[in-house]
Amino acid sequence: MAAAGSMIELRTSPAQRAANELQAAVKRVLACAQEAEGAELGELLIQIRETGIDPLEAAFATGVRRFDKSGEYAADGALSVTAWLKWKCKLSGSAAAERVEIGKQLERLPKTEAAFARGDLGYQHVAVMARTAENLGAAAVRSEESSLLRAAQSMDPGQFTTVAKNFEHRVDAAGALAEANRAYERRYLHISEPQAGIVRIDGLLDSEGGATVRARLAGFMKPIKDDRRTFGQRCADALVECCRQASGKRDSSGPRPQLIIRASLDTLAGIPGAPAGELEGGGTVPAETVQRHACDSALVRLTGRNELDQELNQAGRTLPASTRRALEARDRHCVWPGCARPLVWCDGHHLVWWTKGGETSLPNLALLCRPHHRLVHEGGWSFRRESNQWRAAPPDEIPARRITRRE
Ligand SMILES: [Zn+2]
Ligand SMILES: [Zn+2]
Repeated sequence: MAAAGSMIELRTSPAQRAANELQAAVKRVLACAQEAEGAELGELLIQIRETGIDPLEAAFATGVRRFDKSGEYAADGALSVTAWLKWKCKLSGSAAAERVEIGKQLERLPKTEAAFARGDLGYQHVAVMARTAENLGAAAVRSEESSLLRAAQSMDPGQFTTVAKNFEHRVDAAGALAEANRAYERRYLHISEPQAGIVRIDGLLDSEGGATVRARLAGFMKPIKDDRRTFGQRCADALVECCRQASGKRDSSGPRPQLIIRASLDTLAGIPGAPAGELEGGGTVPAETVQRHACDSALVRLTGRNELDQELNQAGRTLPASTRRALEARDRHCVWPGCARPLVWCDGHHLVWWTKGGETSLPNLALLCRPHHRLVHEGGWSFRRESNQWRAAPPDEIPARRITRRE
């Protein structure tokens, strides 16, 4: 047996003695959790994480790494250490895989490993660090490990994920774009046929799509007086109400879902090393997505930080209503070859982008539906007008994610 060994041996082994002491300590902690009150209880909860769960997860990661290297899991008939963890440690597949990855990456991130073992860093923060190292290679993360750790210690996991994603974008913009494109490819929405009066909706969206939906629904979510609906019920009602109201006014001048993206001028201009765009309410989008939204900012509000705000607000102005009307009258629908999606689907695309001197005037604009507009900015397609014909061409080469997943 790989983990058990002979019972006689284990009873006297240091590992077994440590496990016995841990079990006794856990019993005392449980008793305190049942009895402590007020501030003392709060302090206990903090200590359970900082002194208990997080350092134990660090110990677990170290052990999993050594167990993986030894190949001992095979003695139990498991095909991989992940399979063994699922089976013997009662973890889900994703939870097991995450711990294996953390174990691997921590070996290459000594400062993170030490902070984790001290309880200075929570498990979720470490998972973000490991994922970043997996995406960029541990060497890149080590070069900024100290500043990332400082950020991790002052932020909740969601905020820290934004910092880590920004870092990934600075180091490997093509990789960040490829990841966003992979996430976009996974999108789907399934609305079932009604069964016994119930319609099931499930799906996946990329972070931009998710933020758009969430921002739109938020306006319909407010609880009314004596509201007894659950959060999930209010969310469901908001979706239905939102669709109901939208079906009443179909013209393109009506209010549209507003997305707020925070971006630097470097990101807008596509300068290498620029940070990602940050979606209000969490999540990041690659520079290409920021640039697409800036093409026709009727859909979004782009804001910079502090001193950039004013410049951005001037630069990222909406298409003037008169220009938009003239564009709609000229193009009438998406002008992508073979596409005729109607106006409500369409953005005004600048053929020569405005940071490169392109004007917001009719000869430099084209109506493109959102999927085709995305193909130009995030998909790398070229789109132009040649002898009065619209022409679209696929990219010469698609930026491939750097092979950094395994060192
Ligand atoms: Zn555009
Ligand atoms: Zn189209």
